[in-house]
Parts: sequence; C-alpha cells; structure tokens
Amino acid sequence: MALLRLSGVRAGYGAIEALRGIDLHVEAGEIVTLIGANGAGKTTLMMTICGRPQARAGRIEHEGTDITGWPTHRIMRRGIAQSPEGRRIFPRMTVQENLLMGAAAGADPAAGMARVFDLFPRLAERRRQRGGTLSGGEQQMLAIGRALMAAPRLLLLDEPSLGLAPLIARQIFAAIRTLNRKDGLTVLLVEQNAYQALRLAHRGYVLVNGRITADGTGAELLARSDIQAAYLEGG
Ligand code: ATP
Repeated sequence: MALLRLSGVRAGYGAIEALRGIDLHVEAGEIVTLIGANGAGKTTLMMTICGRPQARAGRIEHEGTDITGWPTHRIMRRGIAQSPEGRRIFPRMTVQENLLMGAAAGADPAAGMARVFDLFPRLAERRRQRGGTLSGGEQQMLAIGRALMAAPRLLLLDEPSLGLAPLIARQIFAAIRTLNRKDGLTVLLVEQNAYQALRLAHRGYVLVNGRITADGTGAELLARSDIQAAYLEGG
C-alpha cells in the first residue's frame, strides 16, 4: 500500500484549473521529486494534498484511507507536515519559538528540538536569534525544522533551495538525504533545481500545465534528452 496516492486529482482557483487529473504515488521510505516550470501547478499539488485548495475531483489516499476533502488539521494529524514555498517563518519570534510553533499536540517538543539542532547545528547556535534576522539558508533550515517538530512521517517540501547560494542549497539537500536515510522519513519534494533534486530522489515526476507528462527513477529522468533540454540546460 502506498503511503500517499493521488488518482485523477483536479484542483484550481475559480475558473483556473491548475491540476488536470494527477495520478501519482509515494511509497514509504522514498524521496519523490516533482519538477516543472513556473506555473505548472507544483505548489497547488502540495497544497491540495494538505486540503487547501480542496480537490474538485479524484481521490487522495494516505495509507489506504481516503482523505479527500478532509480539513487541513486532520490531514496534518495523520503525520503529514509541509514546509511551504517562501518559508513563512515568524520573523519576530526567536528560532526556538518558531520551532515550538511547529510542535503538534502529542509531539515531544524537547525531543523535536534536539533532533532539529542535531540536523542543523547552525540553528542551535542561533536559538535565541529572531527568525527575521537569519540568513536565507538559515531561514530555510528553520522552516524545515519547524515542519519536523510535528514528528511527521511524510514531509512535503516546496522549493527548499529557492534563492539560496549553491553551497547552502547543497547543505539543505544533504539534510533531506540524512532525514530519509537515517530516520526513514518519506519526502515529497518540489524543486526548480531539477538536477540536484532528481539526483537526490528515488523517483520523480514531471508536471506540465497541471498534468504529469513523465515519471521514472531519478536517474532515468536525468538521462532523458527532452528533460535535459527543458529543465537541466544551464542548471
Ligand atoms: P512556481 O514554480 O512559479 O511556484 P507552480 O508550479 O508551483 O509555479 P502553482 O503556483 O501551483 O504553480 O500555480 C499553478 C496555476 O495556478 C498558475 O496558473 C497560477 O497562476 C494559478 N494560481 C496559483 N495560486 C493561485 C491563487 N491563489 N489564485 C488564483 N490562481 C492561482
């Protein structure tokens, strides 16, 4: 049974149809990467999994349970956490306070914080610094850390390397790999940085205009000349 399965999912905003029938699955223990151009529907897909916007058609299953139409808080309680595009940390709160905002009822905040500080030692050094004064890379670490505080089993990451210098982006990708290999965390990753993200992934999907146009292992997708031309040249 897949950890997450979408079948024929459609979603949008008013007259705009952003997702036009999505079929994809994520197995427990995988890193799955979704690539696509600006406006392809990647963020909408992540948001729809979390219940907002709601799917207009199709079915979203988590561990075999139909969660289509569920409110976001109920979906989160099943062990799904999201680090949204643009980080959206609380700028006036300290690192520590931001992390505590991510602790779900039932999660152990002290254990969560220790885990986050182990993964990102820079955050430990800056635990009393306000979120808004962190560098872009540190803010991204904080956004991922905050999502981890809920002790999720499925982590949805929307563009974690956006706007980061290459060296910092590599650190973020390395942290995602560690979470997957060491803790067995399952990850669905949306990325513009297709090369790094497909190298990291077990499998990937290509999204074009709200539809999946290709899928395969990370290596298979990286080897395809059409995908190289569309997403990897100059990258
Ligand atoms: P990017 O890489 O630029 O973030 P994306 O692949 O994540 O793009 P989405 O943000 O999901 O794409 O957008 C898909 C389509 O839905 C686009 O046409 C976009 O303009 C539209 N859209 C997204 N959010 C909204 C909204 N809140 N209201 C109306 N239309 C929206």
